[in-house]
Amino acid sequence: MPRPRAAAEFAPGSPGEPLVDTHGRVHRDLRVSLTDRCSLRCTYCMPEQGNEWLAKSSILTLDEIVRIARVAAADGVTTFRLTGGEPLLRSDIVEVVRRLAVIQGPDGRPVELAMTTNGIRLPELLPSLVDAGLARLNISLDTLRRDRFRDLTRRDRLDDVLAGIAAASASGLRPLKLNAVAMRDVNEDELIDLVQFALDHNAELRFIEQMPLDAGHTWDRSRMVTREEILDELSTRWHLTPVPGRGGAPAERWRLDGGPQTVGVIASVTAPFCGDCDRLRLTADGQLRNCLFSTTEYDLLPSLRQPEGSAGDAEIDAAIDGMLRSCVHGKLPGHAINDPGFLQPARGMNAIGG
Ligand code: SAM
Ligand code: SF4
Repeated sequence: MPRPRAAAEFAPGSPGEPLVDTHGRVHRDLRVSLTDRCSLRCTYCMPEQGNEWLAKSSILTLDEIVRIARVAAADGVTTFRLTGGEPLLRSDIVEVVRRLAVIQGPDGRPVELAMTTNGIRLPELLPSLVDAGLARLNISLDTLRRDRFRDLTRRDRLDDVLAGIAAASASGLRPLKLNAVAMRDVNEDELIDLVQFALDHNAELRFIEQMPLDAGHTWDRSRMVTREEILDELSTRWHLTPVPGRGGAPAERWRLDGGPQTVGVIASVTAPFCGDCDRLRLTADGQLRNCLFSTTEYDLLPSLRQPEGSAGDAEIDAAIDGMLRSCVHGKLPGHAINDPGFLQPARGMNAIGG
């Protein structure tokens, strides 16, 4: 299990100051996992059976999420990305969006609220989510073939995902992004088809190198399709020109045949981008993480759930701020996937929040 930190340790900075780590990286992006549950069982993420679900009592309530988000926004976080597990499985998802979307930073500007989803409940929920203030969507789609989808996700729900993408495409939410994990002998022959599908839906396809984050710990480097292989394959169809100005974004992007359409690659394994990372993660059970691959977590539950009457609102907020600063302060310069001693985190991606 990851090493939890129960109390805030010394870390420089006071409430309202930016969250800067010891390597000068300013943290502006908080990924909020709303649940570890999911309607799919993607092989690279979750085991088919035997998942150890988070205890219901440990899952953050809507009020607790909003409280943490307000403190983070006051400290300069400008983007919240809702994820999971599958965020749309959370019964209060529209209310989560409504309450987070109105949070403002110290300059009075509203935060940007995005979501990563498998898309399955989008047709019914999207109008309410947009009305509640959702600004951007990433939808995961690894294959366009029904039999492959069933094998890969262990559920026969490709049609539901495609309906979700159609709903997103018809909505005004832009930019719309589709995420695909490229996998050897699974979907590596569909890379061009996936990009074309995204273009047909006014979306950008972003390929993700498969990372060692599956709950079953079955990741095998030799099975990974690399950034170079992805680019080689796409170059057989389009002329690729790099898009400058990546900043802290995980995806490198290329214009297709001069643009305006683009494709992205997130090469966490073969071309890590840790030097510009501005992301923090909050798990559904209230653990702050400074990296996907971290084995240390910073537990917010004791700060949030103090015995009644023992701490006022200001003290609780100060404790959350202290934990955010400790978490940022403890961030390493980079992940160590490529080191021989790399230890995969105990949690799978569904419980960390992608
Ligand atoms: N259920 C939602 C979805 O699938 O979009 C949100 C959560 S999911 C964990 C977020 C993203 O992580 C998805 O795009 C998924 O493809 C990606 N992901 C999960 N496990 C991964 C792995 N081992 N390597 C690379 N990406 C992974
Ligand atoms: Fe569920 Fe997303 Fe993980 Fe697939 S990648 S099992 S959709 S959480």
